[in-house]
Amino acid sequence: MGYYVTTPIYYVNGAPHMGHAYSTVAADVLARHMRQRGESVFFLTGTDEHGEPVAEAAEKEGITPRELGDRNAPRFQELAKTLEVTNDFFIRTTDPPHMAAVQEVLQRVHDAGHVYMGEYEGLYCPRCADFKTETEVIEGNKCPIHLIELEVQKEENYFFRLSAFQEPLERLYSENPEWVLPKSRVNEARSFIDQGLRDVSLSRKNIKWGVPVPWDPEHVFYVWFDALLNYYTALTYAREGEDLTGEFWPPTVHVLAKDILKFHAVYWPALLMAAELPVPERLYIHGFLLMDEHKMSKSLGNVMDPFRIAELYGADALRFYFFREVVFGSDGSVSPEGFETRYTSELANEYGNLASRSLAMVARYRDGTVPDVVPPAEVAEQFEGLADSVCARLDAVDLSGALEEIWTRVRWLNRWVQDQAPWTLAKDPANSAQVDGILRGLVEGLRMVSLLLHAYMPATTGRLLAAIGEERRELSAAVFGEAPAPEVGELDPLFPRVEVDAEPKPGAE
Ligand SMILES: [Zn+2]
Repeated sequence: MGYYVTTPIYYVNGAPHMGHAYSTVAADVLARHMRQRGESVFFLTGTDEHGEPVAEAAEKEGITPRELGDRNAPRFQELAKTLEVTNDFFIRTTDPPHMAAVQEVLQRVHDAGHVYMGEYEGLYCPRCADFKTETEVIEGNKCPIHLIELEVQKEENYFFRLSAFQEPLERLYSENPEWVLPKSRVNEARSFIDQGLRDVSLSRKNIKWGVPVPWDPEHVFYVWFDALLNYYTALTYAREGEDLTGEFWPPTVHVLAKDILKFHAVYWPALLMAAELPVPERLYIHGFLLMDEHKMSKSLGNVMDPFRIAELYGADALRFYFFREVVFGSDGSVSPEGFETRYTSELANEYGNLASRSLAMVARYRDGTVPDVVPPAEVAEQFEGLADSVCARLDAVDLSGALEEIWTRVRWLNRWVQDQAPWTLAKDPANSAQVDGILRGLVEGLRMVSLLLHAYMPATTGRLLAAIGEERRELSAAVFGEAPAPEVGELDPLFPRVEVDAEPKPGAE
């Protein structure tokens, strides 16, 4: 079985922002890491182009929903490219093969007796594209997410018999305690089910922008079912002439933010059960990045725009910051000031400096050749079992925990070289063997952390690995002391100082 990881698909009614970048980079770190382990990986992201929110946004601009999608979908593709994201396919829910496959699956669900015609009246949030239950509505009949007033809507709908899946869903949760991670989200997911499930609208009648219901073309499918099915349909047409379903279904992990938990934790597995398809192995629910606009910085102002950050600091710095500043899975604050602080204190001072001073010492004391000696046991000890432990954490989607384990070694190496002070030892030729060992230990340590950091920061670690003569990127190479002693090359600063003119950026007010 392959490793199949997805991001949510993003609404094309707005521009890509930090939240999109966050989910996408998280999935990319997992995909890259699994490829380093030699797994066969399929990594999917894309855009959700149907439904009311998109139709409304297009209308406001006086263009068609398709034009809006055609204009904005490329911006999400551009974001992925800018952040060095290695998705294997980019799905757009307006792709004709997606739409055909949605119709095929839902026709099957219909024919199996899970769909009926009924009348729906409820409080509807147009921005969520979702009816709200009484317990979800907050004071003043407002959407708890968008804080806008909900509309009473009544219409003829096809309904999906969600209530019939109460028991199967309860069983799914009790038999798979890690189906939803982190564990702190399980109760939230279960509470939707424990309240008792009611049937849900499968179609909308007064909306034209969507996938037509094949047995009643007056209706289009409710956008959530169309959107959720992207995870399945993409495999049927992502590679021309090939159906990847056999290799990659069910998904290994869906990465998503907590605001769309209900759809993924309840509707999605029920729909798959109704279609007699295996359910995903795991949902991983991450928190929100809360922008702290008061903590400005000179280079970024008070705006955290992923494009701007990548342009100034490189994509790697942002990819690192995401999992370092906020524990993945929890909510947390991010700010331009916080970003710059981590860039300087951790990336430039801890990792970047360690790399440049180590290579400079090899150049200076050993003419650019790493001594071919056994590295000191105390360094080897630090790296014992590290690769396995990082793998185990990433199997559990613990992106911050894995990064912390690696970073602990970066810090250890910094302290160690400080204690050893090879620059002092090198003054006396009697210490030659000791200096040899220190240099070898440093370069091996750098090689280890860089291979393990490679999924997080592909560009900078790639430059460092190239400079120390390590061409492999697979994790089987992450065995301490195993690399041949190489010639080291030149290395420009991995995280240079960023100088910016003080001119305010457009949109920074
Ligand atoms: Zn809402």
